[in-house]
Amino acid sequence: MKKKVIIVGIDGGTFTLIDRFIEEGKLPFFKFLKENSIYSYMDSVEQDTRVPISPTIWTSLATGKKAEKHKILSFFNLQQDIVSARWFEILNHYGYSVGTFGWELTWPPENYGGFTIPCSMARDNRTFPSYLSPIMELRGKKKGNLLKNIFLFFKLKKIGVDFLTLTQLSSNMLVEKFYDKKLKLFKRLIFLNRINLSLFLNLVKNFKTDVSFFFIPLSDSAAHYFWKYSDRENFPEVSDEERKKYGDFLLKAYIEIDNSLRTIYENNKNSSLFIISDHGMKPIREGSFKTLSLKQKSFLEKTNILGKVEIYFVGLNSVIVVKENSGLDPENLIGFFKNIIIKPSGERFFEVVEKDESGRIFLKVTQFDKGKFKEEDLSNLKVLIGTDYFDFLSLVDVNDIERSADHDKTGIFMIYDKGLKFKGNIGNSTIYDFLPSLLSFLNLPLAKDFDGKPLYKFSETTMIDSYDFLVKRKKEEVKVDDEFVKEELRRLGYLKDRE
Ligand SMILES: [Zn+2]
Repeated sequence: MKKKVIIVGIDGGTFTLIDRFIEEGKLPFFKFLKENSIYSYMDSVEQDTRVPISPTIWTSLATGKKAEKHKILSFFNLQQDIVSARWFEILNHYGYSVGTFGWELTWPPENYGGFTIPCSMARDNRTFPSYLSPIMELRGKKKGNLLKNIFLFFKLKKIGVDFLTLTQLSSNMLVEKFYDKKLKLFKRLIFLNRINLSLFLNLVKNFKTDVSFFFIPLSDSAAHYFWKYSDRENFPEVSDEERKKYGDFLLKAYIEIDNSLRTIYENNKNSSLFIISDHGMKPIREGSFKTLSLKQKSFLEKTNILGKVEIYFVGLNSVIVVKENSGLDPENLIGFFKNIIIKPSGERFFEVVEKDESGRIFLKVTQFDKGKFKEEDLSNLKVLIGTDYFDFLSLVDVNDIERSADHDKTGIFMIYDKGLKFKGNIGNSTIYDFLPSLLSFLNLPLAKDFDGKPLYKFSETTMIDSYDFLVKRKKEEVKVDDEFVKEELRRLGYLKDRE
């Protein structure tokens, strides 16, 4: 009989937090898992990059390969750019049906014998099968509109979201106008997870998929925004009042995940669990002070390149794409940007000036942690562009995005199965080990071109050269507006609104 597996992706899942909360007696199911699973500290790629790299990481998890091989190198790559077989294709090849809920780069949704709900970076609301698309409508909802859209609630109910969860969500919508910004965000994250989970459980039950995936983004967001309120040691400046208000949000997020995992387990007693994360989280002092971003339009005007380039934000980076026929030479432009300096210190205005493989130029304004200036200095600083001086604050916005944690290289990997002979910590692993581990667990052949190996020798696995012959997707021009992706990036906070 085929083994059934449920894979849960806990975005930014971190053992330091899990262990601390277990010790406090708050995560009974994680405690059970740690005592009854094989687990490992799983290393991801270096996290200090200029752009969010989650598509790269998730594709490495999916293919068992490094980015150079699978070719997903940029945040703007699409799934047809992937040249290596992913776990869905490989398992399909051996007759397993697969359902995925939120795996990166699963848009446009394809049929793997179950359901495919693309991740939040999808460019439209398509799902497989198509009748599930109301779940994608939910993520596009602007603040406050949800209740007005009673219709969407009925659609969600119809596709399998349970009524109680929907009722909780709607009553939260009624009271949330009395909440402050942080509480509102936190509640929304919690309810979104509950709605997703409710639908996921229903889908697994109805489609009877052999291997299914569920994604939990709650852990990543909760750590980014709420870490500092429960970390007195690293953030002594947080007031008692704030600590009282938000101090248990991170813990509550993990309790929610603990409950989600237990619910998945109890509803699927015949399945084994694979729990993975794409990276861990760690506190950052830098994020807790203000960040600086470029006033893009003003900058383009002052440098006389307005109309000749496109510009948008990815995180704090401004990405510049030189228009064709603009007469601008990207190489010259890079030299020009590097020579813009802050007066009187003489340091560079941009701490990052880089070009990627497709010719886009990334610019990042020198931040407080790298610069020689303090917040109170800003109004006196000048910027020298060519031979002209401009006020620093005419070119730079000061943001008070409070991020007190950021991505850490080390995430989690746990495998739970009733019949495990070995339990406990099995040493460190990498994201390339996930797919080989899954295949070994299912007694399927590994491939010689994998960059990882099974966490544990579950079976006497044979080897084939490669699974890449399974990639049927051919590269085709997809005519879609990048604006849709940018809108999503904005919503996620990666992109700032255009000026
Ligand atoms: Zn994150």
